[in-house]
Amino acid sequence: MAYQQLKEELIAFSKEIGIEKIGFASAEPFSDLKSRLEEQQTLGYASGFEKGTNEERTEPKRLMPQAESIIAIALAYPTRIKNDPKSVKGDRRGMFCRASWGTDYHLVLQEKLDQLASFLQEKVEDFQYSSMVDTGELSDRAVAERAGIGFSGKNTLIISPEYGSYIYLGEMITNLPFPPDQPLTDGCGTCTKCIDACPTGALVEPGRLNAQQCLAYLTTTKGFMPEEHRDKLGNFIYGYETCQVVCPYNKGIDFHHHPEFEPDPDLVKPRLVDLLAISNREFKEKFGKMAGSWRGKKPLQRNAILALGHYKEVAALDTLIDVMNQDPRPVIRGTAAWAIAKIGEERGFEAIRGAKGHENNAEVIEEMNKGLEMEILSH
Ligand code: SF4
Repeated sequence: MAYQQLKEELIAFSKEIGIEKIGFASAEPFSDLKSRLEEQQTLGYASGFEKGTNEERTEPKRLMPQAESIIAIALAYPTRIKNDPKSVKGDRRGMFCRASWGTDYHLVLQEKLDQLASFLQEKVEDFQYSSMVDTGELSDRAVAERAGIGFSGKNTLIISPEYGSYIYLGEMITNLPFPPDQPLTDGCGTCTKCIDACPTGALVEPGRLNAQQCLAYLTTTKGFMPEEHRDKLGNFIYGYETCQVVCPYNKGIDFHHHPEFEPDPDLVKPRLVDLLAISNREFKEKFGKMAGSWRGKKPLQRNAILALGHYKEVAALDTLIDVMNQDPRPVIRGTAAWAIAKIGEERGFEAIRGAKGHENNAEVIEEMNKGLEMEILSH
């Protein structure tokens, strides 16, 4: 009874500090998740970014032996940019996915969880907790689902009836036996829009993602983009969200509750050419607070080059030729060769031929050869 009351007080406090949704779950093992993780690993569908062993990821007591319950929180983020700068021919802009707008959500949610912890510390003498956002061992989605924040959609995202899937998730394991909330029932029904819209077939079946084929994951890798996916990103340079955009639960959703998540138009839609010339220091100063900067500038620059190739941006040709000739990173030089060939101008192919004469890296030379094959095919 005392914990029911404390739960109600905590819910009221969570509203005061701007948490849109809060839910409570037991700290029992996530047994179904464990077998799913094992399957994902066997099938080669995991991203490799996961933290901890399967046991740590599914048994909260391994992370905190006194664990009794888990508190899940969700914060809604905006989906539309005020004064949206247009990406037009001759002045192309890239795009960070919405989950990277504003200040890095890890920091914002961690601060909210810290506030909840301080509240409980004042009420309960021997309160113990361990909180995490995205990068911890626990699956934010499994916890949120169990705590009734939303149901797990066929796109593998947690969908809240009020806020759609445009929510950030975080959680706190506690030693307090809060009465649990009930999970929501699956709301997808017969809809398959996300599966149908995924350009790479990464949603291999309802609720199962092959992360290795997911464009959002692929925007964060540091090597060459697999050739078959280079032309599918449009202007996305970080993340990809078609499986969210097409979801009927996200129709018309656009919450601007948190100033921290408001996008700076020039940061979330940066000029692609400018991004190619940015120094490490400038990158850190400008983009360092965004969630999308966590892998550094190289994957973003590679993706910016892909976007310029995708749009056949002739105005960027000279910049791309400079990059192909001068950048010290083979992935960037090779991707520039691909983009130059994609643009398809005669002087671009000439530049590839010239650069090939002094290129030493085998992978870059291979990209240049593929680019020159494009020239033959275009005739
Ligand atoms: Fe479910 Fe349809 Fe949304 Fe996919 S698009 S998550 S199937 S409701």
